[in-house]
Amino acid sequence: MKDRFGREIDYLRISITDRCNLRCVYCMPENGVVQIPHEEILTYDEITRISRCMTGLGIRKIKLTGGEPLIRKNCATLVRMLKELPGIEKVTLTTNGVLLEEQIADLAEAGLDDINISLDTLNAAEFAKVTRRESLDRVLEGIQAALQYPQIGLKINCVPVVEEQENLVSIARLAKQYPIHVRFIEMMPIGYGKDYMGTSNEILFAQMQELYGTGIPVTERKGNGPAKYYRFENYPDEIGFISAIHHKFCDTCNRIRLSSEGYLKLCLCYEQGMDLRKLLRDGSSMKEIKAQMQQAIARKPL
Ligand code: SAM
Ligand code: SF4
Repeated sequence: MKDRFGREIDYLRISITDRCNLRCVYCMPENGVVQIPHEEILTYDEITRISRCMTGLGIRKIKLTGGEPLIRKNCATLVRMLKELPGIEKVTLTTNGVLLEEQIADLAEAGLDDINISLDTLNAAEFAKVTRRESLDRVLEGIQAALQYPQIGLKINCVPVVEEQENLVSIARLAKQYPIHVRFIEMMPIGYGKDYMGTSNEILFAQMQELYGTGIPVTERKGNGPAKYYRFENYPDEIGFISAIHHKFCDTCNRIRLSSEGYLKLCLCYEQGMDLRKLLRDGSSMKEIKAQMQQAIARKPL
């Protein structure tokens, strides 16, 4: 499925809940998060029906996200339902890791392919400042538990809000210690992120070079997303940089998004899209829904 600018759209990010057990300063307010009532959230059956239409249009990879996806009951059941769809190559998850230890066995059994764990710091006090919760130990236990399932690829996604170089070093060290890829994500000025600068990936890259020698870009394509990977002389793994601000990647964007309420969003930065929940609940046929989706996707902004 190509959009009108020739970009191949094969990746769908599905938010399965707006709720979260952390309150990261750049993502949610401390208090007063308005919760969407359950009946307005798509059921697993509805998500699967939409995903089935999407596979008919060329979606091959699905990432479950949130809020915090593991907050929603029986997330592994949805993973299994999506994995069974013909045409789906990968179902992956992005999580803060707090509930990972207790759910990893079910997720692995359901066939989950990869997990991205968001972790901005390994310092407990800084973690509590960034997330407004004291859950670092649980995240680290979640990572250890996930390492017991080598069939699941693990990545750490770090938004560098904690600016000390020691923080960068300790996160980067994870890739030395474990079979885990580390990626740094530049803070985007969206939502509460507008109030935070974070360290730019250009500065991080310079720091990595200072610490680990010259960084050489990895030319082979890795993963589904916009991360650019580099290999450093004295570092055992490749490090990914997702630089939405300093190296925009809109021209190769391959993704669309489905909100927990069933709104198809064509770009993170535009509201433009389509209410798929309404179509589903109005009793539209799968054929009609698919046709509407196709028209919407063709309008993905440049
Ligand atoms: N709760 C899950 C988690 O934290 O991985 C999934 C949802 S969370 C919104 C997905 C990712 O978006 C996290 O890695 C988080 O750090 C990142 N994120 C949130 N707000 C951001 C912002 N303003 N700029 C860059 N990344 C952001
Ligand atoms: Fe929750 Fe993820 Fe947002 Fe942090 S980034 S508040 S863990 S949804």
